[in-house]
Amino acid sequence: MNHYRGRFAPSPTGPLHFGSLVAAVGSYLEAKSRGGAWLLRMEDLDPPREQPGAAERILRTLEACGMGWDGEIMYQSKRSAAYRAALARLEAQDMVYPCACTRREIVDSALGPDGALIYPGTCRDGLAPGKTPRAIRVRVGHETIEFEDTVQGKVRQDLAAEVGDFVLLRADGLYAYQLAVVVDDTEQGITDVVRGADLLDSTPRQIYLQRLLGLPTPHYLHLPAAVNAAGEKLSKQTRAAPVDERDPVPALAQAMKFLGQAPLGDLCRAPLAEFWEWALANWDAQRIARVRSLPAP
Ligand code: GLU
Repeated sequence: MNHYRGRFAPSPTGPLHFGSLVAAVGSYLEAKSRGGAWLLRMEDLDPPREQPGAAERILRTLEACGMGWDGEIMYQSKRSAAYRAALARLEAQDMVYPCACTRREIVDSALGPDGALIYPGTCRDGLAPGKTPRAIRVRVGHETIEFEDTVQGKVRQDLAAEVGDFVLLRADGLYAYQLAVVVDDTEQGITDVVRGADLLDSTPRQIYLQRLLGLPTPHYLHLPAAVNAAGEKLSKQTRAAPVDERDPVPALAQAMKFLGQAPLGDLCRAPLAEFWEWALANWDAQRIARVRSLPAP
């Protein structure tokens, strides 16, 4: 019996572009080539960053690309109760604390590997008098989290030195991605996470939360992230072009090439069904470049 369960978890901040298409194609082919299920999760937990209509548009584009998902779509916007329950469990273990710091108050802190400020622990032992709690952070200790990524190899991170106590409930009242992703990967029974390497530095935080909450740790495979000529990750902010729904095969073929797969021949002009037949028969994760980023075509 095959237990592989993969997923694609887009944030509806804009239409599907080449960078997100790579994550969709990589996670889809890895799941399907192993006879597994491919689930979808809409990571709509951050309304200020979302674009109206983007979630529907992403689904439409996936369908136009011939990528059907298994089961019901999970919407993070409907999952607050589960996030609240997870936070309550950490509270019961005394692993979280309220934090009153504004960004300005910690702006002098060092930067971690993902460019975020390392929290200096100001509120760790209680709020200074007169301070009002804003966010909730989880305590981290000086332990190195280590895991083996299928593509990126051994990854190690000292959470205390490189990240610091991190936010689980934001000052604007929204749950943080790091908490939501571990709760939802478990709820969807995900055994294998395939996503862009821009999230590689977040993975030790997620493994740490899984351990605290007694949740299973899936296997991880981080694909090279697509970057533009300036080395920036493709995103709405960098004005990445949407995937063409009327003619998706050229972009799909480019995604395969980006992922190091066998020469495409004439597949750019192949009908969709023929493209997928070829892609499934030829997919080999061993061929993916073992780097964190690559220039987009
Ligand atoms: N929602 C995230 C994104 O679109 C991906 C999260 C994940 O795959 O864990 O970048």
